[in-house]
Amino acid sequence: MTQASSTQNLQADSRDHVLPPFTDYQALNAKGARVITKGDGIYIWDSEGHKILDGMAGLWCVNVGYGRQELVDAAAKQMQELPFYNLFFQTTHVPAIELAKEIASIAPEGMHKVFFTGSGSESNDTVLRMVRHFWACQGKPEKKWIISRLNGYHGSTVAGASLGGMKPMHEQGDLPIPYIDHIPQPYWFGEGGNMTPDEFGVWAAEQLDKKIQEIGADNVAAFIAEPIQGAGGVIIPPATYWPTIKKVLAKYDILLVVDEVICGFGRTGEWFGSQYFDLKPDLMPVAKGMTSGYLPMGAVLVGDRVAKVLTEQGGEFYHGFTYSGHPVAAAVALENLRILKNEHIVTQVKEKTAPYLQKKWAELADHPLVGEARTTGLLGALELVKDKQSRERFPGGNTGMRCREHCFNNGLVMRAVGDTMIISPPLVITCEQIDELVALARKALDATWAELKA
Ligand SMILES: *Cc1c(COP(=O)(O)O)cnc(C)c1O
Repeated sequence: MTQASSTQNLQADSRDHVLPPFTDYQALNAKGARVITKGDGIYIWDSEGHKILDGMAGLWCVNVGYGRQELVDAAAKQMQELPFYNLFFQTTHVPAIELAKEIASIAPEGMHKVFFTGSGSESNDTVLRMVRHFWACQGKPEKKWIISRLNGYHGSTVAGASLGGMKPMHEQGDLPIPYIDHIPQPYWFGEGGNMTPDEFGVWAAEQLDKKIQEIGADNVAAFIAEPIQGAGGVIIPPATYWPTIKKVLAKYDILLVVDEVICGFGRTGEWFGSQYFDLKPDLMPVAKGMTSGYLPMGAVLVGDRVAKVLTEQGGEFYHGFTYSGHPVAAAVALENLRILKNEHIVTQVKEKTAPYLQKKWAELADHPLVGEARTTGLLGALELVKDKQSRERFPGGNTGMRCREHCFNNGLVMRAVGDTMIISPPLVITCEQIDELVALARKALDATWAELKA
């Protein structure tokens, strides 16, 4: 069979039998899905043999890159020894214990305990139940409201999608569930109007104060936020935002949940985004980079205050998953952390590749299409606009999708969120490979620009 006909067969079988996530089925069926067949380092290959630089690290997760034999070996060894056992009913196993201990050693101060899950969404479901249980245990069951942000992303389960602030997700399935409310996001480029970024950062943080007063502090359990919004479009808050949020939270007795599913495990050049922004979270949901995506796994890191209540006055916590702490996933996560440490990857991001990316990425701001080029750590975004000064977009709202198509066709995965192009490359990317990424991005911008002018 020729390569092309085998691709067509795979696409047909996919169309007939696979319902992929976050997909417009009619649009996809009209053209067929790209079939990815292998990966090595920061590159992937499709079934047509095209080599593609993976600027998204899969889905923000393949942090140590593809093809790491150490992770394969760790999984194989654990599968032979004990492929499955659970942490229910007063049993445990070595990989889960070792992994929890290892995570505690890199976690922000005052976080020593880990509740394992199978994904980021499950972690946020766990968060919702845990924070309400925490307050109920202390005789405050009315403290159950959770405040989140519009256009935040916290996963796709019922609790995850409810905590998230994605309007189209809420419209499907009658979400959010009760006792969750959303405040505006700190997205200066899109929503800052005539304010300076610093003014807007303060304004956006003060919306939390307003919302707490509106609901009543006695009724609010927690505030949840990503340090940097990922799926929402790599939204890096203005410098004033987190310091003002901290001031607001200090006035009230409300838990802080920092969703580290993307920022966790080195993405910002610190182990966690909370360390980057100097936050003191009570709970941190994590997943993605935890195993570099080699196996599904998530967790909630639990701070001392919550852990004390859960362990000393909580009774049984009726919550958990069959695969909580799965031994094979745990063994892979441990090995992944060992690689990150031994190869000094997080330090390399902080001292070398993140500053280099920042400099190179900023050069794209001279492109006629680009209204802003921003990065933090190894997260980056480009705002595509018609008018740089007014930040006005092109009509049609599909400039991002056009650019994304040109990226793919030129050998780069860059994702589009509306007309914002985003990257989150593997943390092992080198400076030379950053040059290649930026050159490919510019090529796609040129092609998009030529198409728009035509
Ligand atoms: C991806 C993501 C999630 C959901 O994780 P899944 O593993 O897809 O369930 C939650 N929060 C954030 C910030 C994410 O980026």
